[in-house]
Amino acid sequence: MTLRDAYGAGRFGLSFELFPPKTSDGMTGLLACVGELVKFNPSYITCTYGAGGSTQDRTLEVITRVHEQYQVPVATHLTCVGLAVPEIRDYLARAISQGVENVVALRGDPPRGETEFRPVPGGLCYGNELVAFIRSEFGEMGVAVGGYPETHQEAPSPEADLENLKRKVDAGADVVITQLFYHNEDFYRFRDRCHEIGIKAPIVPGVLPVTNGAQIQRIAALCGAKLPPKFAAELEKHKDDADAQFEAGVDFATRQAAHLLANNIPGLHFYVLNKSEATRRVLTALPQFKSR
Ligand code: FAD
Repeated sequence: MTLRDAYGAGRFGLSFELFPPKTSDGMTGLLACVGELVKFNPSYITCTYGAGGSTQDRTLEVITRVHEQYQVPVATHLTCVGLAVPEIRDYLARAISQGVENVVALRGDPPRGETEFRPVPGGLCYGNELVAFIRSEFGEMGVAVGGYPETHQEAPSPEADLENLKRKVDAGADVVITQLFYHNEDFYRFRDRCHEIGIKAPIVPGVLPVTNGAQIQRIAALCGAKLPPKFAAELEKHKDDADAQFEAGVDFATRQAAHLLANNIPGLHFYVLNKSEATRRVLTALPQFKSR
């Protein structure tokens, strides 16, 4: 199934995002985690992509093993970091030969220690160029792109960022998956503005259930997501009690997802961080997912 079908004909797209584990024990744990998540009948499962050759192989290994073991549709993330066009072409051809039908197409972040993204010679500069390339050479693939309810950190303005998102959709993206966020109002405002400028692709909120206060502070600092002060205070209050932090995070994510579901979303994308318990608890608490 391609991403187009996942959201087509009024279908609700439920997706989970994994990352490549570093060890074989990590892979075993990851496959067990996916075993719990497939009980919710996801539309597809994705795996992130990091710069560097060995990471590429691990991304493909994760999604092909998930695909083989659970017969669930999969998507590889792909960034432009460190790759010239022939290498992008090779990667996608390899992915397709292994049964991967979808790609989450990204520019990627500057490598550690660098502040500005610079393409390698013969590489691509922006997400819209990657989407256009995929459409021109691998037209049958489903393509998702990233969207930023709180505006991408490098964008000169929210308006410029939205115009750049529109370029990706106009280049042929099937769906926009958002960066994680914790204020639903930011998402609704972002979605309204997307519609105002003529973005018609489904806009799917990305939700990361917090399982650990320190971890979320780190992730939020990296991608610029703001935590609501009341929720941040709740996590801080339980800083010496991992179980209480976990419960506070599950409770927040359940209320966040319930509010989104009541506001006409085409799907939900969970950043599961290779652990099933928090996402499982959130989905179990939501009546929409009981019968999937
Ligand atoms: P772009 O859309 O290219 O935008 C980057 C910046 O350039 C923005 O400020 C934008 O406004 C501006 N811009 C875009 N196009 C143009 C243009 N044509 N002219 C001028 N300015 C332009 N990172 C990873 O390394 N691996 C992953 O697997 C990964 N998965 C992700 C999944 C999702 C759903 C999301 C939302 C993000 C993910 N990221 C991942 C992070 C992502 O790589 C970073 O946010 C990166 O900084 C931007 O990628 P992009 O594709 O959104 O960039």
